[in-house]
Amino acid sequence: MIQVKSILPPAIFRSHASNKTFVVAGNHPWIEVPEGTTLADVQWTDEGEKYQKNKPKPGKWDVEGSTGKRYTVKRDESGIWSCNCVGFGFRSQCKHLAQIAEKESKKI
Ligand SMILES: [Zn+2]
Repeated sequence: MIQVKSILPPAIFRSHASNKTFVVAGNHPWIEVPEGTTLADVQWTDEGEKYQKNKPKPGKWDVEGSTGKRYTVKRDESGIWSCNCVGFGFRSQCKHLAQIAEKESKKI
């Protein structure tokens, strides 16, 4: 079981460049995991409450995907993230969102 403490739920990200699999979760450093790892193998501790004082502002970001297609990542007033790519539709998680969430978490 992989333990992750972060302000965002973790996602599994497979890098095509390095052929490695990572667990990505908001402000948490990427964790390299064995191929075939799924979210069922990840135990997530929500640290969001620690950041309640720094409530996220809603926002909208343009992200260029790997194929050059552009996606829109959004965060609403309650800090809920969304993206308009296909991957997000399936898993409620995607690398565009992870990318923006990581950048934003560094501002806190
Ligand atoms: Zn996306």
